[in-house]
Amino acid sequence: MSGMPQNNPHKRDARPEFWELSMRCCQLAGSVDVAFFFIFLALGSPILAWINVVSVAMYIYAYRAFRQRRNRLAILLIRTEVLVHAGLGTVLVGWESGFHYFLLMFIPALFVTMRARSAWILVGCMWIYYVGLDVLMWYIEPLQPISSNALLAVHIFNLTVVFGMFAYLALFYVITVTRAHKRLARMATTDSLTGLFNRRHMIALTEKELARHYRRPSNLTFLLLDVDHFKQINDRYGHDIGDRVLSGVSQMLTDSMREQDFIGRWGGEEFLAVLPETDLSQAEASAERIRKAVESLVIECDGQRLSATISIGITQYRAEELLSTAIARADRALYESKSAGRNRVEIAAP
Ligand code: GH3
Ligand code: MG
Ligand code: MG
Repeated sequence: MSGMPQNNPHKRDARPEFWELSMRCCQLAGSVDVAFFFIFLALGSPILAWINVVSVAMYIYAYRAFRQRRNRLAILLIRTEVLVHAGLGTVLVGWESGFHYFLLMFIPALFVTMRARSAWILVGCMWIYYVGLDVLMWYIEPLQPISSNALLAVHIFNLTVVFGMFAYLALFYVITVTRAHKRLARMATTDSLTGLFNRRHMIALTEKELARHYRRPSNLTFLLLDVDHFKQINDRYGHDIGDRVLSGVSQMLTDSMREQDFIGRWGGEEFLAVLPETDLSQAEASAERIRKAVESLVIECDGQRLSATISIGITQYRAEELLSTAIARADRALYESKSAGRNRVEIAAP
């Protein structure tokens, strides 16, 4: 038995890992019930043993329903199995059997998988059911009592399974949340077309670099790079091919950067590179290397071999100036390299 997470069945494809988990829980719970069948046979309680046969059948049916994407039916089967099995086990063997612990697994499962309001209502119903069972067992004797040693063994078995299942579910949710968090962080910091850092993240990273520069001044240079005549590529080959050229150029830019440098997409077909611990002559050498690498790049698109060039403006950061001031200077250098014929590197006038 297990308290399974539930979810809107129509969202199956939106959360494949959730349904994978549900199916795995189905297998796990079914296996536990197979174990119960033999345990109760050995304890001389055939009625209890046969209840587990019904449970196993329900889990097999639920598993098949999941595979056929009839999630609503699968979830209903599992909920019913857990509720009835926990109730029957308690009434037949006694409160000390610990079958009621399985009901506790509904609490996180409900809150994680449905709206808070519905979860509160269902958890309230679960509480009434749980307390009802508890009170009932204060006043009646178990209908199928087993020896006290056997009761202790069943109790410990149930506790162990519930511990294991809680740990397993908790781990699953931690992994899922961590994965989602990483995906969101990546989406917030990178540009989807080029895979480079986006403008917002570049500003954040560069401001950090400026703070470091403030504490410990050193050479810091900026490169502003812009693809030449990119509008013509779009006009001639279409926007989609334009995108692929942009993406190819971006890949080449990433590959051409040194370990300590970072680069991001600053605008449409414009990029900003930040080169820490680099003076103007070193930056110029880097920029030349990057320019040549892009120039020699051939991008295969639908049987066509395309190439592109870039123009680069360089400037050195001056202590305590605003980032925007330094970028404006690099932009002027870039403009000069465009005016001087493109596919060139220009250093900003001091
Ligand atoms: P220059 O050499 O002076 O830089 O000329 P240019 O044609 O590259 O510059 P311009 O600013 O005139 O045009 C830039 C073009 O880049 C226009 C815009 O539609 C295109 N562009 C911007 N972002 C994207 C993009 O993500 N995908 C594609 N395909 N085109 C883009
Ligand atoms: Mg351009
Ligand atoms: Mg431009």
